[in-house]
Amino acid sequence: MDKILIRGATVIPMTGPEKIIEDGEIAIEAGKIKAVGPAGMIDKGWLADKIIDARGMVALPGFINCHTHAAMTLLRSYADDLPLMQWLSERIWPLEERLTAEDVYWGTMLCVLEMIKSGTTTFADMYFFMDDVAKAVRQSGMRASLSRGMIGVAPTAQLALVESEAFVQEWNGGANGRITTMLGPHAPHTCPPAYLEKVMALAKKFNVGIHIHLAETLQEAADIRKEYGKSSIAHVNELGLLDFPVLGAHCVHVSPEDIKIMKEKNVRVAHNPES
Ligand SMILES: [Zn+2]
Repeated sequence: MDKILIRGATVIPMTGPEKIIEDGEIAIEAGKIKAVGPAGMIDKGWLADKIIDARGMVALPGFINCHTHAAMTLLRSYADDLPLMQWLSERIWPLEERLTAEDVYWGTMLCVLEMIKSGTTTFADMYFFMDDVAKAVRQSGMRASLSRGMIGVAPTAQLALVESEAFVQEWNGGANGRITTMLGPHAPHTCPPAYLEKVMALAKKFNVGIHIHLAETLQEAADIRKEYGKSSIAHVNELGLLDFPVLGAHCVHVSPEDIKIMKEKNVRVAHNPES
């Protein structure tokens, strides 16, 4: 199936609202878009192997989910009315200790299926058993930026660093370039400065970015302020973390000062207002 023609769709290319094509056509050849335009614009000599009638539908570039723990689809609704740290420490972390690589593979596959069904083609994931997450990405045709989550205060802290290094080496640029990797220290309140130093050393060594939860809850803000006398953003900035390409998840409790720092350091934000 080399040549596919999608026709009849309302096509929304990302060039601005005035460019919406009401009765559009998209020609695809060898897995790549060959042409996009109004009905009848495709060269008459170009014959599709398959024609998709998309009347009544919208065609637009795939969505990107900038912050996921895809396999947690399996844990959907599990105690999700608890405050974040209580939910994590009393329910989620003990349960995650019992997850197998196969569980993570199938949990990711379920999430991937739901993402594809709703138009998401790329995701930025942080979890564990990441080889199995990468295999799910490779098999499904999705794109992903993957990071092995690391909790600096957990007994697995050192192992997580070792696994992160191996994962980056094996998978950065994997699945024909559809997979890129980042390092995934969980958050400033679960990764002490000495641990973040080690993460930054790895980021430097492999020239990869850092995916981290930042300023997620009021409790985190209070804990960091008590410990270091500053905001989460100011804290990680002073450690030098924001000198790396950073994808900051949540970023809910940020002050105008914090926003100024984030702008200056070009922090990319996956704004998830609810934890
Ligand atoms: Zn998260």
